[in-house]
Amino acid sequence: MGNYFSKIIRNGTLVLENGCERADLGIRGEKIAGILAPESQLEADEIIDASGFMIFPGGIDTHTHFFEPGANYREDWFCGTRAAAAGGYTLVMEMPNSSPPVIDEGTFALKLGLAEGNSVVDFALWGGAIAGNQAELEKLNRLGCIAFKGFTLDAGPEFLWLDHQQQVDGMEEVKKLGKVLGFHAEDAAIIQELKARFQNQPWDLRLHDEARPYYAELTAIENAIIFAEHTGCPIHICHLSIPEGAECIKRAKKRGVDVTVESCAHYFLLNYEDQFEAGTYGLIQPPLRSRERMEGLWPYLLDGTIDYLGTDHAPYTEEDKEPKDGDGWRVMGGAPSIDIAYPLMVTEAVLKRGMAPHRLAALCAGNGAKRFGLYPDKGAIRVGADGDLVLMDVSHPWNYSRKNSFSKTRCTKFPYEGRELLCQVVSTFLRGREIYRDGRILAEPGYGRFVRG
Ligand SMILES: [Zn+2]
Repeated sequence: MGNYFSKIIRNGTLVLENGCERADLGIRGEKIAGILAPESQLEADEIIDASGFMIFPGGIDTHTHFFEPGANYREDWFCGTRAAAAGGYTLVMEMPNSSPPVIDEGTFALKLGLAEGNSVVDFALWGGAIAGNQAELEKLNRLGCIAFKGFTLDAGPEFLWLDHQQQVDGMEEVKKLGKVLGFHAEDAAIIQELKARFQNQPWDLRLHDEARPYYAELTAIENAIIFAEHTGCPIHICHLSIPEGAECIKRAKKRGVDVTVESCAHYFLLNYEDQFEAGTYGLIQPPLRSRERMEGLWPYLLDGTIDYLGTDHAPYTEEDKEPKDGDGWRVMGGAPSIDIAYPLMVTEAVLKRGMAPHRLAALCAGNGAKRFGLYPDKGAIRVGADGDLVLMDVSHPWNYSRKNSFSKTRCTKFPYEGRELLCQVVSTFLRGREIYRDGRILAEPGYGRFVRG
């Protein structure tokens, strides 16, 4: 029994927690059961040849939107998790601001039901912390939400944003539950004022940044940190887009504030200058910043200030993203990326900028698993962990197109269209089972399991 493996993945380069190693990987059932000398002669029911491939831990997306319930013409759990599997993600943490939002027991059960029968990757659910639902947080916690998410600015009539004192109140409650409170951090008052001021100018991508300026994001981050320091609540800053915010978080961490921060591939690779022509297809929130700010964010990824990379995958359709009567101000913020973000960051951070592969693995999997309490079952290639793996080919450049996406919307006007990647997902394993290979999904809907926070 000790030497029995159901699968051995042979001759790959394993991206382990402290570095890379040429080794064979033994899997028994759902678990990683052995890291073996290469060319091991051990027997297994199935031998998989991974010669020439790097084997990363399955990605953990800390920030996913699938829009089901509410807008499943854009994406649903079935196609969204297929796109995730194709992108090397084995676990998604789905955001609560769907319609209806996940803000109480009923809405949690509704989303869980939709996800359970349809998902091909494992999933966790964020709970919403909105104005007025403080009493519900304890119930959402009992149901197993992974963490809580709040907005510091208007997020529509269903997902009521938290003003300053409400952020403090929310933190007091979330701290009691032993969970993390995440924020979409942009200042409400600044953005409301500037939006009104700019309304009559024709929208463009630079103006989008001016109307939601870096100092609005920085103010909201500073405030959240002050409140976290006061309450002692662990907080998480979502989708950081500015180096100034990273510097502020770095200082807060140094003095012991329990704050972690996520950023996304697009804030390292896209900006309103180079992507100006993408127009509303480059409209996301927080906005794409200047080329200089984009470049300025890299050192904070390399020095470890930024804890994890989420996708903020938001699969809007062409109808959603085209300006309404020529008016870009009314277009929804968001863009899809779950099927490209992981190999894209292997390309840009590891292959082009020299980041150690195991550090990128921590950003795309390990650190998120640790922050949200899923480690060591999830997040790393180690004996005893779930067999969540992604085989990456780093020797054949290719060009991305949304035409081949598993997403419902295959609109090709988003900024990554046609981009060259030096890394491609060949195969994805979830709990020991191959769920994706060479463009085909191999798992049936419902194989993905709910992961309790
Ligand atoms: Zn988001």
